[in-house]
Amino acid sequence: MFSSRTRSTRRGNTSQVERHSILKYPHRLNFYDRPPIDDITIEEFETCALDRLRVLAEIESSFVRNRPWDELKSIALEQCKTYLPLNASSATAQPIDAERKKDHIGHFVLRLAFCRSEELRRRFVKAEMALFRVRYDSDDAIEREEFLNSRDFDWVPVPDDEVKMYNAELIAAASSYRDPRDRTPLDTQKYYKVKWTRVPDLVEKRRVFLKAGMAYVPMREQSSIVFQEFQTNLEKALEMTAKALPRLDEDTRIVPILDNLSQGFLAGVSSEWTASSSSGNGDELTADMIDDLSKKHFPMCMRNLHECLKRDHHLKHFGRLQYGLFLKVLGLSIEEAIAFWRKSFSNIPDDKFNKEYRYNIRHSYGLEGKRANYAAKSCQQILCNDQPGSQDSHGCPYRHFSADNLQTALLSLYSSQGLTAGDLPEIMSAVKQNHFHVACTRVYEITHANYGVKKGEGVGGGESITHPNQYAAKSRELEKAKVDAIKTEMKGDVDVIMS
Ligand code: SF4
Repeated sequence: MFSSRTRSTRRGNTSQVERHSILKYPHRLNFYDRPPIDDITIEEFETCALDRLRVLAEIESSFVRNRPWDELKSIALEQCKTYLPLNASSATAQPIDAERKKDHIGHFVLRLAFCRSEELRRRFVKAEMALFRVRYDSDDAIEREEFLNSRDFDWVPVPDDEVKMYNAELIAAASSYRDPRDRTPLDTQKYYKVKWTRVPDLVEKRRVFLKAGMAYVPMREQSSIVFQEFQTNLEKALEMTAKALPRLDEDTRIVPILDNLSQGFLAGVSSEWTASSSSGNGDELTADMIDDLSKKHFPMCMRNLHECLKRDHHLKHFGRLQYGLFLKVLGLSIEEAIAFWRKSFSNIPDDKFNKEYRYNIRHSYGLEGKRANYAAKSCQQILCNDQPGSQDSHGCPYRHFSADNLQTALLSLYSSQGLTAGDLPEIMSAVKQNHFHVACTRVYEITHANYGVKKGEGVGGGESITHPNQYAAKSRELEKAKVDAIKTEMKGDVDVIMS
């Protein structure tokens, strides 16, 4: 396994060998040495990257939230299951090659998007490293061994007599991490020699014995060499890609996609949540219900727009657009939307409203002009596009409010839902790191604690907020589940009384 050029697999495991020879991608793990050479459509190009970005963004959010490694790992695996499944070669019923191809393409598209600044490169390498580690840790042990055998890691097995010769030094190095109760004699362990520069983390923690520029790495620390190699390769590749990138600038189809991907990653948000159910709980929405709903279920961007609308009886163009599309996806019919805006713009006479606003409302519902079905704006779009001026109310408060105003607004809007001054430092810390959606997710958790939402759970399974309608829909689902549970409980009580 550890001889650098061995390519053998388990003795007698011929079916595995045969299967590997059939697969175009024989290993689940990938160092991404070569770019994909197949023809792909522009949609495939974008989808593969977006799905990978969803996983990487959740990994980044986990870093910002200081999640322990095991929690990060389970969230990343859950995200991978949904967006980037990567089954073991033994899962013969799965489209293994197609999954690995998607993984391969997605990685290379994101390299193009994230090679363009030092900040993007650093964050991309960190998230990709974590993803590789999650997969490495969760890989089938035999398949991982085959993958390691397929590469030249340039590690030299230390002969037994050399291990015996340096036994005292190896014991001294091992004492920094070895459990004192572990009585396994060190001279029975396997060691590998690599240049010390290849395992800086182990050297820094004094976990290896150094001799003549070589680090003696015990077998249990072998993964450090692999991870370091992955990181070094990726850093070099990103720099080379950055140099080659100007040639791509002429491709007008690809550059906007790359811009969008990198912009989203910088804003801390990867993806667009898509509204599969418009209202969140199946009820018909009416204009009169909006005020109450906003207090219980709206994220801060929409809550702020609603409060500004109540205060000023008016919203400027981008505010109307952001809020109107949100309400449409929430489930407000066109008739109710016109009623809502008519009532809200109470200082404007009927003829002015009909002339200047009714058309735009109908337009956003696809009933005028080019009759397009406009989607509600995602967090990424709200964070990155149409930056608000001082007189505007649209945008994301976590990004666009000053720190003082944000804290005051948080307390005034959400204290009735359980948010206290003691919660502010954690929220503001995410804001300071430009992870606005992490701050929003934390506020969701705090304000939905009475529904049983715990810290770190996000909108379910640790997932972060990526869309205002996702926030509202999940919040309404929680309320509906609680009401249904109470109804069931009451029905049970009535049945008992009647029987
Ligand atoms: S993070 Fe998204 S949902 Fe939350 S306030 Fe900002 S834009 Fe709205």
